[in-house]
Amino acid sequence: MQAPALLDRFGRVATDLRVSLTDRCNLRCTYCMPPEGLDWMPGDEQLTDDEVVRLISIAVGRLGVREVRFTGGEPLVRRGLVDIVRRVRTLDPGLEQSVTTNGLGLDKLAAPLADAGLDRVNVSLDTVRPDTFTEITRRNRLDDVVAGLAAAEAAGLGPIKINAVLLRGVNDDQAPELLSWCLDRGYQLRFIEQMPLDAQHGWSRDSMVTAEETFAALTACFDLAPAAEPRGSAPAELFTVDGGPATVGVIASVTRPFCGDCDRVRLTADGQIRNCLFARTESDLRTALRAGADDTELAERWIKAMWGKAAGHGIDDPGFLQPDRPMSAIGG
Ligand code: SAM
Repeated sequence: MQAPALLDRFGRVATDLRVSLTDRCNLRCTYCMPPEGLDWMPGDEQLTDDEVVRLISIAVGRLGVREVRFTGGEPLVRRGLVDIVRRVRTLDPGLEQSVTTNGLGLDKLAAPLADAGLDRVNVSLDTVRPDTFTEITRRNRLDDVVAGLAAAEAAGLGPIKINAVLLRGVNDDQAPELLSWCLDRGYQLRFIEQMPLDAQHGWSRDSMVTAEETFAALTACFDLAPAAEPRGSAPAELFTVDGGPATVGVIASVTRPFCGDCDRVRLTADGQIRNCLFARTESDLRTALRAGADDTELAERWIKAMWGKAAGHGIDDPGFLQPDRPMSAIGG
């Protein structure tokens, strides 16, 4: 039997590809980047639409990738997004394609994306209070996100998942309120622990809100029970809410890491393979691609990049160093 293509030394196989389409974003979430933004990637360093589709075609056609999620930065600001989705759909009708977005502009793009072959969206929303939204994102755009969510639902991009990060003293008292809001609309909420990936290096283990605290806050208002469905490689621990069928997820990336089950690989907007969100090295496919490498050589480089994946992200190791790139430039 042929060995799986994107295998690492610990026997994990990557089948879920996160593709960052840009490092730019139209929000300025305090836990992600400073108010003035960052030095954006020069345009010529960014992969073109053709280059993105070519690398995805190698991943899907030769390397066993079964799921592609577009992210960023904010993927909806990438002009070619709808076209990229349409072209990737033609590679494999069974491929799962999704987008992780802050929801801005989704009111207009949801229908074209669905038409192009997108399966679903994950929308990031940390609060449903306008003042808290403005405090966290530094933009007064909550209404646009809500409109984007409604459009995604209408376009059939469900099940809609909402990702939320709780920040101490900002929205950590709002977990039950956010869950009620999502339950009313049929959205699947998942809380994600804040990770040391902010451009400002402001994260601290002592101040982050843990999954355990989130769970405790939710159980004060809801009856949560472990969901029956197997977790597999999914990062979220799922719980049924008040007897189900609705669920809520908690992603304990820091306090209960799930690296042993990781099936992800990342392609940055400038064509670097990252075998882990926290990797401190990358493998450059863009230079090889632009130098004329054929698909076989690019696939071989990709396979080699995955083999070196570390056993775990190492946040708890005494020598842990945050990656040079922030989350927005890696692709969350
Ligand atoms: N702009 C898109 C969005 O908002 O979904 C995609 C990129 S964003 C970096 C992806 C996700 O990463 C968002 O849900 C965001 O809340 C989350 N995120 C950003 N910085 C984070 C951090 N330091 N720890 C945990 N999650 C973070």
